Amino acid sequence: MRRTADVVIVGGGIIGASIAYHLTKKGVRDVLVLERDRLGSGSTGKNAGGIRLQFSSEINVRLSQRSLPHIERFADEIGADPHFHQVGYLFLITEERDVAPFERSLAMWSKLGVPARRITAAEAKALFPHARTDDVRFGTFCAKDGYADPTSMMNGYVARAREAGATFVEGAQVTEITCGNGRVAGVRSSAGDVAAPTIVDAAGPWAALVAKLAKVDLPISPLRRHIFVTEPVAGLDEDFPLTIEFATGLYAHRESGGVLLGMADPNEKPGFDDGVNWDFMPTVVERALSRFPILERTSIKTGWAGLYEDTPDKHPILGKVDGVEGFICAAGFSGHGVMHAPATGELLAELIVDGRTSLDINALRASRFGAGELVREHNVI
Ligand SMILES: Cc1cc2nc3c(=O)[nH]c(=O)nc-3n(C[C@H](O)[C@H](O)[C@H](O)COP(=O)(O)OP(=O)(O)OC[C@H]3O[C@@H](n4cnc5c(N)ncnc54)[C@H](O)[C@@H]3O)c2cc1C
Repeated sequence: MRRTADVVIVGGGIIGASIAYHLTKKGVRDVLVLERDRLGSGSTGKNAGGIRLQFSSEINVRLSQRSLPHIERFADEIGADPHFHQVGYLFLITEERDVAPFERSLAMWSKLGVPARRITAAEAKALFPHARTDDVRFGTFCAKDGYADPTSMMNGYVARAREAGATFVEGAQVTEITCGNGRVAGVRSSAGDVAAPTIVDAAGPWAALVAKLAKVDLPISPLRRHIFVTEPVAGLDEDFPLTIEFATGLYAHRESGGVLLGMADPNEKPGFDDGVNWDFMPTVVERALSRFPILERTSIKTGWAGLYEDTPDKHPILGKVDGVEGFICAAGFSGHGVMHAPATGELLAELIVDGRTSLDINALRASRFGAGELVREHNVI
């Protein structure tokens, strides 16, 4: 194990990999990514791959707008197929309480150039005939949205970063962050000690634990989320928009010939347990059958759970952390880290190399929580 690095990144998921790639692209060769398990074994290997512009906060929209072109040209730039199915996201709005927030979002999207539109229940039905729409007040649809394969994206970043000189070490748990005179000096890990002037916390749901090693408190909590996948569905052969029943957060997209279903359990409490709670499956199946009756023709093939990296305002913490020079956070994506990985990598590489970013990410600073300056996101799924 080598003893120095220009930048140590703690966490080998899609965020750590994207930052490493973008750093090498800006000429930083001595990048070391320490992953305590296998690359992609955290949330990156457990998620739904959704990519969307349809957020309610301007900064989330801007992060998506920054990321989307990267994902659209991923194969050309990175040389790996991200399996991006650009089939659109279809939000179904059934409750009165969600009407005004979505009207506000539609106005904001129009201002920011997001090609999302308000559609009638009949138009929603035309987009996905197997969705029940009798109770739908209206929908929103953005054809630029879709879903991709996060592991392919991560592997692409890792391959290009490695070629450019970055080192990824698996089975290397960071156990200490050494500091002196108010700044980081390096890390102690199960694979050895490394001196580095810059340390990036990209530890996903474990980011608060890593920050604690530098005596920094970050409000990032692990929150279990489930996914269930059906067997193939007779009569449902075509691709369809990633469709969301917004009131319950139930979402569905095509997966391995069947349908991937996700939904948050409102009773879930923060914790690191990512075992499947099979008692929750009937709740998801019941909602799914009600919204997509064609699923009566199939059964659940498999299911898994992973951890959201939740912050109080459902936005990531990005950038330098006050009080510990050289300690940088890139975590807390609250379920949106895959779609925001390209922008995050690009912006944090700019921050580390140039000292400033080409998109203002001040709203996402860690100190916003203490200052009571939270950024709200309504469209959390
Ligand atoms: C069910 C589910 C569905 C989701 N759906 C979507 C979606 O549709 N679209 C989307 O954009 N996002 C989605 N997400 C969120 C997305 O998966 C995450 O935001 C993203 O993967 C975060 O990537 P990461 O690299 O920050 O974290 P991770 O992939 O968790 O990587 C962090 C890594 O840090 C390592 N680590 C932790 N502690 C240490 C240590 N001390 N030393 C060394 N290594 C350490 C871990 O082993 C882990 O591999 C979903 C998440 C879940 C759980």
